[in-house]
Amino acid sequence: MDEVATGVYALSGLKMGRSYLIEDEDGLTLIDTSSPSASQGILDAIGAIGRSPDDLRTIVATHYHFDHTGNVAALVERTGATFCAHADDAPYIDGRVMWLPMQGIAGKFVDSGKRHYALRVDRELRTGDSVAAAGGMEVVHAPGHTPGSIALHARGRRLLFAGDAFMHLAGLMLPPSMSSHDLVEARRSVARLAELDFDIALPGHGRPIVGRANEKLADWSRRWLA
Ligand SMILES: [Zn+2]
Ligand SMILES: [Zn+2]
Repeated sequence: MDEVATGVYALSGLKMGRSYLIEDEDGLTLIDTSSPSASQGILDAIGAIGRSPDDLRTIVATHYHFDHTGNVAALVERTGATFCAHADDAPYIDGRVMWLPMQGIAGKFVDSGKRHYALRVDRELRTGDSVAAAGGMEVVHAPGHTPGSIALHARGRRLLFAGDAFMHLAGLMLPPSMSSHDLVEARRSVARLAELDFDIALPGHGRPIVGRANEKLADWSRRWLA
């Protein structure tokens, strides 16, 4: 676990998909939950910073995919946290809409826990909404990878939680086409995110981008995605 900014932890050693834990005086917020069977690892991370599971107030999923929502059910049950996701991904999370065929393969992961398809979204987010963590995080709709993909912009802290709007594995990259709904729209979302003011970008896969992250994103977007 790395503290990437004061009170902001990038969790490691979980399953697929990176999660971030934000510590505020009045409680904890978790951005994404990794793939199924990682809930104990997340609870261990909460313990490692000296907090208890009951301190987890809010869980935000940046989008519906199993590697971001995989432990929501277990964590909500254990902590009573409020679960938030964008309104356009809520139908995929609560089971009203089937996933893309590719996520049918991923569906194997969740087959043992069918409740994954019937998670209740406690709070549906939309652009302009804010989540009370890290001094206030603005919800930024960044569709393409999924219809309801979001980023969270902690303006005052100059942080961007990017979900799978882009990845940072072998350099910056778009999310895989096979798991994305609309890559043309995904490109546009990256260009819009690059206009925001942030110094650190925290992607759902790969390493945090630390230092002038918005400029790096804008540069990559202009060069490769134009
Ligand atoms: Zn992912
Ligand atoms: Zn995804």
